Amino acid sequence: MNDQRKLVVELRRSMGRLEAALGTISDALVITSCDGRVLWCNASYAQLVERTPPALLGESIYDQLPRDCDGAPLLNPEQVQAGGDQGGQFTRVLDRHDLRAIEIEWKPIRSERLRPLIFCLRDVSALLSYQQLRVEAERIERRRQQTENLNRALELERLALATKVMECPVTGLPNRRGLHVSIRAALKTQRENGGRISILFCDLNSFKEINDLHGHQIGDDLLIEIGRRLQRSLRFGDILSRLGGDEFVVLTMGIFDEGDALQMAMRLNDAVGQAWSVEDHTIRPSMSIGINISDDPDISVDELIRRADLAMYEAKTNGDQHISFYHPSIDKRVRKNIHLRHQLEGALQHEAMFLAYQPIVELGDRIVVGMEALLRLGAIASPIATPSEFIPLAERTALILPIGRWVISEALKHLRQLRSEGSELTMAINVSPLQLKESGLSDFFLSQAERSGVDPSWTVIEVTESILIEHPDLATSELRRLREAGVKVHLDDFGTGYSSMSWLARLPIDTIKVDRSFISDFLHDHRKAVVLEAMIRLSRDLGLGLIAEGIETVEQHAGLLAMGCLQGQGFLFGKPEPLSRSCAVPA
Ligand SMILES: [Mg+2]
Repeated sequence: MNDQRKLVVELRRSMGRLEAALGTISDALVITSCDGRVLWCNASYAQLVERTPPALLGESIYDQLPRDCDGAPLLNPEQVQAGGDQGGQFTRVLDRHDLRAIEIEWKPIRSERLRPLIFCLRDVSALLSYQQLRVEAERIERRRQQTENLNRALELERLALATKVMECPVTGLPNRRGLHVSIRAALKTQRENGGRISILFCDLNSFKEINDLHGHQIGDDLLIEIGRRLQRSLRFGDILSRLGGDEFVVLTMGIFDEGDALQMAMRLNDAVGQAWSVEDHTIRPSMSIGINISDDPDISVDELIRRADLAMYEAKTNGDQHISFYHPSIDKRVRKNIHLRHQLEGALQHEAMFLAYQPIVELGDRIVVGMEALLRLGAIASPIATPSEFIPLAERTALILPIGRWVISEALKHLRQLRSEGSELTMAINVSPLQLKESGLSDFFLSQAERSGVDPSWTVIEVTESILIEHPDLATSELRRLREAGVKVHLDDFGTGYSSMSWLARLPIDTIKVDRSFISDFLHDHRKAVVLEAMIRLSRDLGLGLIAEGIETVEQHAGLLAMGCLQGQGFLFGKPEPLSRSCAVPA
C-alpha cells in the first residue's frame, strides 16, 4: 500500500511538472477526441484563440480556430480524417494585427483505444523569408481590393436597378413606383409643414387609335414627345411621372386653389395639343385631366391617385376643356357608370335591346319618306338608360362595336319586313366613329344587306363629322365603298362640331342633318336663323339634301317651310317608336 501510494504521488507530481512545462512552451497544444472536441489545451492555445482555457473544453476545435487571411477555416474535419493514422501538416497565413504564418501539425494517439488527436500549432512567421511574406501581403491586398471593387460594382448595380424599377423605360420619367415614393415624401412634408398636394391625372384621348393606325413605334414616339411637352410646361419642384399606357401624372405642392390648378391644366393641355408631324401625317394629340387637391396628410397614396383618376374619367366625358376636379359626388357617378356598363354588357348578351324608329318626312305634305333606327336599352316599357347615358359609355368601352353590328343586322331585318309589306321607306342607321375607324364596316354592312335581301339603295348610313375630320382617309374610303354600292350617307348633327361649310363639297355625303339646336332657336335667335338659311341655300347649291332635326312645333315647321327647307324629323311628326307603332305614323 505504501509503495502504491508513493507511486501515485510520484505520478501526480511528474504529471504536474509535465503540464507546467507544456504550459510554458510557445507552441499551442491541444488534445481532442477523435471528432475534435477539446479535452485539454495549453495556455498558448488559449492565447491563439483569444479565450480562457476552462471555457474551451468540450467545444469543437474547428469552431475555435481563427480563420485564415482569405476568410477560410484554418482546419476542417475532412482534412484531419483524410490524414488517417499518419496525421498531417501544413502552413497557413493568418491576418490578424499583422501577418502570421502558422504551421499546423496533428496526429492521432494510436496507443489509446478512442484515438484522441493531438494538435500542435506553431508560429513560423520567422521562418518565412521577407520575400515570401511580401508576396503574401500583396496577394492579400489584391484580394481585398478585388472584393472592394466587387462590392462597389454590386452597390452601383443595385442603385441602377432601383432607379430602373422606378423609371418608365420608354420616356425615362418616374413610373408608378417612383410616383409613390414622391407622394410619400410630399405627404411627409405636408404633415410637417402643412400645404396642399395636387395630383393632375392626364390621359391622352384616342391614344389607342393612334397606336392602331400608325403602329406602336409611333405610339411610343408620341408618348416621349408628350412627356417632353408636359415637362417643359411644369415649374420647378413639380414632378411628372408616367403610370403606363397613355397616363401621365403631375404631382405638385405649388397649387393653392382650383383657379391655380385650372390654369396649370390648361397650360398642359395647350402644350400637348400642338400639332405633331410624323412621317407624312399630322397628329393633334389631346388630353383629359382629372385634378385632386388634398389638404389631408393622412390620406393614402393610392386614394390620392384614385381620386384624380376618377376626376379624369369624368373629364373624358364632360365638357370641351376635358378638365375635371375630384368631388365626392364623382364616386357615385362613376359607380353608376360601372353599373351601367354591366347592364350594357348584359343587354348585349341577352339581346335586351330594341330599335325604335323615328319618321323622316317631306315638310310640304308630311309624307313619311324614311325611318331612322335608334337604339334603346332594356324593355320597351322600362328602358334601362337613355341613349345620351349609354352611347358615350359604349363608345369609351368599345362595346359599341358588337352593339353597332347588332343594330345593323336588326335594322336591315326590319327594313326587309317593311319592304315586303309594300313600303317604300328608306332606313337610316347611325354608325359611331369607332365603327367606322374599325375597318371592315362596309364589308359587314353590305354582306348583312345581302343576307337580309335588302337592296343597299334602300339604306342610309348616318355619320357625325368628327370622324371625317379626324380620320378623313379611312372614313372617306369606307363611305365611298358604301356609296358605290348604293347606300346614301347622311351627315348627322351638322352645325355642332367643326362644321366648316367649305368642307361639305369635298365630303362623300348625300344629305346634311341640321342639328336640333338650330331648329329650337332660329325663331328667336336672328343669327341662328341667318346661319340656318345659309345652310339651306348652300346645300341646295351643292346638290345635297337637307333634313331639319328636332322639329317640335307648328311654328318651327312653318318657319322652315318658308326658308325652303324640304325635309324634317321631330316629335311633331312622330316620336321614336318600336316598329309596329312607328308604322302607324300617318303617311
Ligand atoms: Mg342620327
